[in-house]
Amino acid sequence: MALVVQKYGGTSVANAKRINAVASRVLKRRNAGDQVVVVLSARAGETDRLVKLGNEICSCPDPREMDVLLATGEQTTIALFCIAMKAMGVEAVSMTGYQAGIMTDGHFGQARISWIQTQPIMEKLHEGRIVVVAGFQGYDDDGNITTLGRGGSDTTAVALAAALGADVCEIYTDVNGVFTTDPNICSKARKLEKISYEEMLEMASMGAKVLHLRSVEFGMKYNVPIMVLSSFNDAPGTLVTREDEAMEKVVVSGITYNKNEGRVTITNVPDQPGIAAKVFRPIAAAEINVDLIVQGGSGIPGRANITFTVPKNVHEQTIRILEEVASEFENSQVIGDPAIAKVSVIGLGMRSHSGVATKMFDTLARENINIKLIATSEIKISCIIDEKYAELAVRVLHDAFELDKEFHAPESIKIREERE
Ligand code: ADP
Ligand code: ASP
Ligand code: MG
Repeated sequence: MALVVQKYGGTSVANAKRINAVASRVLKRRNAGDQVVVVLSARAGETDRLVKLGNEICSCPDPREMDVLLATGEQTTIALFCIAMKAMGVEAVSMTGYQAGIMTDGHFGQARISWIQTQPIMEKLHEGRIVVVAGFQGYDDDGNITTLGRGGSDTTAVALAAALGADVCEIYTDVNGVFTTDPNICSKARKLEKISYEEMLEMASMGAKVLHLRSVEFGMKYNVPIMVLSSFNDAPGTLVTREDEAMEKVVVSGITYNKNEGRVTITNVPDQPGIAAKVFRPIAAAEINVDLIVQGGSGIPGRANITFTVPKNVHEQTIRILEEVASEFENSQVIGDPAIAKVSVIGLGMRSHSGVATKMFDTLARENINIKLIATSEIKISCIIDEKYAELAVRVLHDAFELDKEFHAPESIKIREERE
């Protein structure tokens, strides 16, 4: 008997028909002899609707109360789901984050899981019940309800799988697995059979929202096999696991895009020690996460420009903070550009192959797409471009790196080291 954690996303439980369909799927799995813990998201569009409700009351709603509000989305689905299961005559039990013992720190809206008490879920499983847990939520040391950040139900599921020692964590969504790029913007996107945690981490952090970044971190840390599948059919999905010999040994495995960042530049700051720290200190104090940073000459001797990107929702706030900083320097200005996108090429094979950057730059140049910033890591190259070219850039890069073509590993060659 295996222990399986299954997570269903918003579109998978969007309405009564879908909830009943998923309930039947879960029942089938249980009847096959497995113990099942189900993690559910809010119904599609529900969390957005709740965010809007809060913002209609005031422009800056209290974060603690917003978490109380947002957590109701998942609470509704677990109740509806258990109503469906019980109507089928199945013993299922719904559990909120609190009831399931999911403890977090106290960062409302962006809480991190600190501990999971497995006993409450284990007890119910031993009673032969199907346990249905609300994703995306937990509670802090003071008993406040917290939420894990948008898309966080994936993280609830993988963290639970790790804590319960589950055999696999299955993430059911509206596409058949992890693709070479977002299949909803590139018709040639190809489903991957397997992907390493490392590549999936880069894909998720660079914008492939199919898995929440922190769920992949949990999977990698605790070695949880993650299977990404569709809840709409029975097609085989994608296994996220440790890098192994059978994995596609391609140079580039995926392309991502992210439109959720904005660019800011502070011009003509003195080019001397301590200035970068002075620029970024108030930004860190406001808990703003900075992504790409580039510093270069400003054209005026002894002065420099610093450019970086931040999440779009804090772009305006960042500009205001920088304007304060700029007022201390002569002729320093702040320039903002919210209409940017980050397009990234990702692949483990880049560690040992050169030429990927040149191919990426050539491909964008052929389409007349201007590159505004560049960042690289061992297995990724990212370019900041105009937001309006994001989809085009993804498609032409997907073609240039021939990601639509199935990869066939060369036949293995037997070698033997002869002794002199
Ligand atoms: P859920 O509501 O099930 O959590 P999400 O909307 O969060 O689903 O994630 C699934 C979506 O991720 C897909 O519909 C697809 O548009 C998007 N996506 C982006 N990049 C990829 C990729 N490389 N592979 C698969 N899906 C991707
Ligand atoms: N309901 C939350 C959201 O929409 C969490 C999730 O779906 O994973 O972000
Ligand atoms: Mg999601």
